[in-house]
Formats: sequence, C-alpha cells, structure tokens
Amino acid sequence: MNLPVPQVCYIPMLQHTGAAAEPVVKKGDIVSEGELIGRALGEDSVNVHASVPGKVIDIIDSRFFNVQQKTVLIEAEGAFTTTGSSPSELNDWRNKDTAILLEMIRTSGVAGLGGDAFPTAAKLTPPDGLKIDTLIVNGAESEPYLTSDDVIMNTYPREIIEGIQITLKIIGISKAIIAVEDNKKPAIRALNEAIKHIQPEEKISVKQLQSKYPQGSEKQLVYTLLNRVIPNSEPPQNSGVVVINAGTIFAIREAVLFNKPLIDRVITVSGDMINRPGNYKVRMGTRISEIIEECGGLKGVPGRIVIGGPMRGISVDDMELPVIKSTSGILFLSDKETCNGDSVSCIRCGRCVSVCPSGLIPRNIAGAVEKREFDLAASFHPEACIMCSCCSYVCPAKRPLSYLVGIALESLQAEKVIKG
Ligand code: SF4
Ligand code: SF4
Repeated sequence: MNLPVPQVCYIPMLQHTGAAAEPVVKKGDIVSEGELIGRALGEDSVNVHASVPGKVIDIIDSRFFNVQQKTVLIEAEGAFTTTGSSPSELNDWRNKDTAILLEMIRTSGVAGLGGDAFPTAAKLTPPDGLKIDTLIVNGAESEPYLTSDDVIMNTYPREIIEGIQITLKIIGISKAIIAVEDNKKPAIRALNEAIKHIQPEEKISVKQLQSKYPQGSEKQLVYTLLNRVIPNSEPPQNSGVVVINAGTIFAIREAVLFNKPLIDRVITVSGDMINRPGNYKVRMGTRISEIIEECGGLKGVPGRIVIGGPMRGISVDDMELPVIKSTSGILFLSDKETCNGDSVSCIRCGRCVSVCPSGLIPRNIAGAVEKREFDLAASFHPEACIMCSCCSYVCPAKRPLSYLVGIALESLQAEKVIKG
C-alpha cells in the first residue's frame, strides 16, 4: 500500500554508506519528480533525487542520524511524471551493454535497501582481478518485525527474477541463489513458480534457510550457502560472492527498465504502539511524524522507537527524522516489547559468549571499553562483530554489550585511519 505523498519532503544528502551527495539545486528552484537534486561525490557516494515534484523551499544544515549534512526541503506540487503513469515503453536490457546497465543503476542512485545502503553500482564493480562466481540474493530479513522483503518477493516474484537476470548480466555470471527463510512459504512458492520461466542456462535457485536470528548477515549467508569463510574486515567479493538484498534487486530492475531513480521504498511499520501496522511504500523524505499520522496514530507513548529492526536498529526520539534509502522499518515498541531496565554488573554467566555467532567474548570487549583500555579491547577482535545484538539481548545483567563492542570497533577503525 502506498502512503500518501507528504506536503513537504525532507531529503538528506547522505542516505547511504560513503560520502554525502552535493546539492545541485537552490532555494526557489522548481524540480520534477525524480530530478537529480544531489550529485554523488565519487564512487562511494550515491545520487539523490527529488521524491516529489515541487518547489525547493529551503536547503538546511541538519543533523540527521548523528551526521551533519545538507537536507533539501521540497514542497509538493505539480505532476507525478515518474510514478504517476505506467511507462509506455520498457528498456530492452537484454540488448544493452553491461556498462550502460551499470551506469543506469549508478545514475538512478540505487543503494542497498537491506539497511547498509551501500552504493549498488560500486558493489557490482568488483576490483580488477577478483573473480565472482555467485550472486546471493538476500531475502532473509531474520530480524523480528521486518517483513518488507517478504512482501516484495511474494508480490513481485517475476520482477525479482528479472532483476536477478539483469544483475547476473552486469556481473557476467550465471549463478544466483535466493536465500529465503523457511517461514516465508508463499514467497518461496512464488519465486519457484517464476523461476520456471527462465532459460536453462540461467542457474537461479531458491534456497530455504532455517528461520532464526541472526541469519541475514553477508558473512553467515556466504558460509551457510557456499561453505566459504569470509575473513574479518573483508568484503564477500573477496570470496567470489556478491550479496544483494531482495528489495535492492527490485530497485535495480526499476532503474534499468524504467530509468526510475530510487525515490521510494517499502518499509515495515510495526510494534504494539502503532494503530495500523503494515508494509507501506513511502517516498524518501517522508517524516516519522507523518507516517504515524497516516498509520492511524499511536496508542500511547512508545517505550522505544526504532529505525530498522529491534536488534540492529537505532533508537530515535526525533519524530521529524525522514525515511531514507536505508530505512527498512520503523518500530513503535511498547515497554513490554523492549528490554528497558537498569544495567548491573556482569555475573559471568557466559550467555553472551555462547550466543555470539562470531565466536567473540563480548563481556571482555565491553569490560575493556568501560575501562577505556582500547588496545585490550582490540585484541579481542571486535572487527568480527556483525552487530546482531544477540549478546545484549540475552544478558541477564542488561549490559549494553553490542553498543560497547561497537565503540571498540570504532576505536579500532579510527586507529587504522590515523596509522594510514
Ligand atoms: S553484537 Fe554481540 S553477539 Fe552479535 S556479533 Fe557482536 S559481539 Fe557477537
Ligand atoms: S551475558 Fe551479561 S552477565 Fe552474562 S557473562 Fe555476558 S556480560 Fe556477563
């Protein structure tokens, strides 16, 4: 279901991993829907487009998601030329050069929609000399509450398969595995049905994964599906694999077939405190306050509002934050759904160690960070953390373990930058 178009869209220039885009519009400009308003600054940046037609009423310095950045405010008016009508002609991607297809993805500002918002064109351009043999399509959301990819795979299975075919052509390989958890039976059936229509030389298959958390991290997928171990701090490409989330595959198809920039996405709105939970197509730049209103309002004061999933998402209290490319969901959780409570000292129960999928000792890393002994924390390899938050979840002492491991990781990365 589409949420109504907001009157004013707040469109940040940093909606992705990497460098912020640079605004190419000024206050007072009239823009069309899908027009470029922020130009990518380099390969690790992503173009940003107007998610509504209208007038640029301001360009503000904002501090969204703890990052200082420019945000373009567009007041909606005029015709919806990109999403308002069905395109009369589709691009014939099969007869286009791969470089042109890749450029279409780059131009359209596609970024990973699973939560990291990594520039997709960069992901599809592995460094010279790296041989890729498999595309893994990540349909395993694994975090509780989040179901947007499930809905997309179930509703648009043929489009997902076509998006995969396009992506395989760009990478220059023929093998793709769609990883879906076994509790998503309708999506699995729909994808398998769609696969019946592909050519025999296209080796696209669906692999059912056990429904458990964490399951959807790239490292784990590559290990589970291909039995390949990705060394810490290395991307999956080094193991011959490109991993792309199902929603991103859908966006790739739209970019290539319709020249459609990434101006909207499906997000999950959920939690006990929202009146009308569901999966909604939302324009980038729609603020949380508007989403609350369109979803029937809140039942009371949430114990926590989370952008993303309950385990790896970020808690927020600013209702003016906009939906961006990396927003997979917004959760309005009740006190009962959260683990709010005071943290006490470690009782050395070992639960955090036994649940950690990366084989870390979270209590040791956390203890070292609390004592500001960052070298000691680094010696426990926080770089292997996949930020699943399982350690925090099981800790009976309610210690903020994943947060502290994250600090250890940041400190390690900062040290690497200083040392060059
Ligand atoms: S968040 Fe905790 S449990 Fe998860 S990988 Fe990191 S240290 Fe291990
Ligand atoms: S789970 Fe919590 S209490 Fe148990 S060892 Fe880990 S940090 Fe300590």
